[in-house]
Amino acid sequence: MYDLIIIGGGVAGMTAAVYAKRAGMSVLILEKGGFGGQVALTSTIENYPSYKEIEGFELAASMKAQIDALGVESVSADVTGLSKADGVFTVNAASGDYQGKTVIIANGVKRRELHIEGEDKLRGRGISWCAVCDGGFFRRKTVAVIGAGNSALGDAIYLSNICEKVYVIFRREQPTASKSYLDKLAGLSNVILMPRHIPLAFIGEKRITSLKVKNIDTGEERELEVGGVFEAIGLIPDNEIFKDLVELDENGYILTDSEMKTKTEGLFAAGDTTQKQLRQIVTACADGAVAATSAHHYLNS
Ligand SMILES: Cc1cc2nc3c(=O)[nH]c(=O)nc-3n(C[C@H](O)[C@H](O)[C@H](O)COP(=O)(O)OP(=O)(O)OC[C@H]3O[C@@H](n4cnc5c(N)ncnc54)[C@H](O)[C@@H]3O)c2cc1C
Repeated sequence: MYDLIIIGGGVAGMTAAVYAKRAGMSVLILEKGGFGGQVALTSTIENYPSYKEIEGFELAASMKAQIDALGVESVSADVTGLSKADGVFTVNAASGDYQGKTVIIANGVKRRELHIEGEDKLRGRGISWCAVCDGGFFRRKTVAVIGAGNSALGDAIYLSNICEKVYVIFRREQPTASKSYLDKLAGLSNVILMPRHIPLAFIGEKRITSLKVKNIDTGEERELEVGGVFEAIGLIPDNEIFKDLVELDENGYILTDSEMKTKTEGLFAAGDTTQKQLRQIVTACADGAVAATSAHHYLNS
């Protein structure tokens, strides 16, 4: 039985692990993908205090090294269930069940999908949700990025160094990304912005060969020849398995108080999975620190 089980090894979960372990708790952290979560899949980060800029995977690896050095137990596991009986939490995962006196949910968010024709057939065959992970497979090819925010433009900037040409498809008149992304994009001649366009279908047999798009002002449809498409249309919470133990807002984010407590005693939540105004690394880390401290107080009360 652990004092604390943390679900999710992103920056919120890893910061919680640091605070809990240093407070003398036994800590297990369960992560289904790569430790670092979204940070590990981000190229350059320019707003994490003390670094003018740092590569995402470097920051993630450094946090993982810190929790390893502290002796936090980490296991690769996809959590599929959580329940509480007689004051003890049971966390279910494919690798087995784990029991803890307290739990922090730090499972972050997942990528939104387009749900258009051809997506299921060509998933992993040229359609990707991670430019940093998969960009290298599209060297010297023409690709498209769907989206207009920071993630989409960050992907386009990253891919412009690898690919021959990058189309950026978005519904609005202008991208919604912040100024630093727009400034970087301005000097890139191989990035072609396609405002007022929506994707209609992914086309290809074994791999994607083109993307059908539509101009929403003129109604004109055309096929762009592409070797890959990167979807960057936002992130959504994934809290269905916790819904009996926590309160969710109308968008599916977990409601907590300022101490990161949920409606169930001994159960806390931290990071992007919670309802909040600003989803960033510093706020996720701060949530993790507060949640772990609250879990420690709960155990000692
Ligand atoms: C492209 C991009 C660029 C960004 N750039 C910046 C930036 O420059 N500066 C900044 O401050 N923020 C940036 N952000 C936002 C920042 O990355 C997030 O706010 C932060 O990483 C959230 O951390 P988290 O730990 O809450 O969640 P996540 O990073 O989402 O981590 C959650 C972890 O939980 C794991 N998990 C999920 N479900 C389960 C399960 N069932 N079982 C086990 N494990 C599970 C996931 O695999 C993941 O590793 C960016 C985000 C993106 C997508």
